[in-house]
Amino acid sequence: MCSGTCPQSQRTKQKIILLEAQKVCARKILISGNGRCNFTNAKASPETYYGDKTFITEILTQFPPAECLKFFDKLGLKYICEDGRYFPIAGKASAVKECFLNWLENYGVQILENQTATQIKHNKNLWEVRTQDTIYTAKFLVLACGSKAYPQISGTELGYTLARQAGHKIKTPAPALFGFDLLEKKALIRIAGIKMQARVWLENYLNNQQTDEILFTTRGVNGNNILTLSRNAQAGSKLFIDFLPQFTEDELYKYLTQRAKQFPNLKVKALLSGLLPDSLINLLIDFTHLRKNNKLIDLTPSNFAKIKETLKAWPFTVAGIRPFEEAYSVAGGVLTNEVDAGTLRSKCAENLFVIGELLDVDAFCGGYSLHFAFATGILAAKNIGDNLCKI
Ligand SMILES: Cc1cc2nc3c(=O)[nH]c(=O)nc-3n(C[C@H](O)[C@H](O)[C@H](O)COP(=O)(O)OP(=O)(O)OC[C@H]3O[C@@H](n4cnc5c(N)ncnc54)[C@H](O)[C@@H]3O)c2cc1C
Repeated sequence: MCSGTCPQSQRTKQKIILLEAQKVCARKILISGNGRCNFTNAKASPETYYGDKTFITEILTQFPPAECLKFFDKLGLKYICEDGRYFPIAGKASAVKECFLNWLENYGVQILENQTATQIKHNKNLWEVRTQDTIYTAKFLVLACGSKAYPQISGTELGYTLARQAGHKIKTPAPALFGFDLLEKKALIRIAGIKMQARVWLENYLNNQQTDEILFTTRGVNGNNILTLSRNAQAGSKLFIDFLPQFTEDELYKYLTQRAKQFPNLKVKALLSGLLPDSLINLLIDFTHLRKNNKLIDLTPSNFAKIKETLKAWPFTVAGIRPFEEAYSVAGGVLTNEVDAGTLRSKCAENLFVIGELLDVDAFCGGYSLHFAFATGILAAKNIGDNLCKI
């Protein structure tokens, strides 16, 4: 990723080698976005990332979403935008991978697969990178090892090990971007399969409210909004769900009471049938201790208030966090105060660069993680290229 953006290396006849531990490279790109690869987001901004905001701002200022699209234009990738999220028009993540490979081939980058770097050492102005069967040397070294999320695909701790060998400190990685299990299993069985817009937030994180499509399963909840919150979840955390983000509380109360006045003889279910899926209405009726046969004329102001409160902030309980195997990303990694944000140059070791998910930056769900990986890769490659021109 990083090496391919470095045409200067071709002019100066420098060799670029990409060592890949897996049998094939870019496996995470292939599974990303449910196989469609959501590679950037028009809304990428420091607010859509977790981590040191000054560090993130500097990177996004140099490489905003528009730059990312320009870069993919150069790669020959055609894309579509869905509510700010960009995907290849091919509908397949492999289009992104192939465009990258063409780009690397064009610049003569050598990809060596099945080469796991286990040790790095700076010796006499050169980096030595030891793999299982050889030692490579290089003037510049880029650590682009990703995180330990999704080890069944390519996630590994080795990046942290290598960064430590170069003198970096690591913030202990924890799973991020995962769906929650919830304790309310009986309720979940009744509403499993529902997919709808909802605003969600965790207790103690009122400032982080996310509106997007939520999906209920028999175990818990999933969806971009849930994934985005997950890094702050703990067993026992209260998760609040607003099932009608389209209404303010006052608007909802007014709407419900007016409907009841208009149709006093209809049963309570009729109050909500144009707003919510059937199974959720039935659950709400039980949760708020109403009776299905209650007529709208029988509802009291406190009944309306309870319905409104429940729909606008229905409390559920997080059963526990999920393991790295189910996390799309991690919170934690190489401390960003040890890396220069303008160039991704290590402040701990000479001619070393640290990029992508290996850094202690994580993001909302929706193309932001890949954007960050590309942004940091490109900034590092530019800096290496500039330095090569000076050699
Ligand atoms: C299921 C899933 C879906 C996702 N969907 C999206 C999405 O749609 N949009 C989005 O923005 N993000 C998505 N992500 C997150 C995104 O894939 C990552 O943020 C991104 O791939 C990180 O890029 P990276 O280059 O830092 O690391 P990676 O893509 O993980 O690449 C690191 C590479 O380094 C190799 N490597 C590691 N250690 C060594 C070593 N010691 N020696 C040699 N090679 C090594 C690994 O094998 C790997 O190929 C998803 C993640 C998962 C798991």
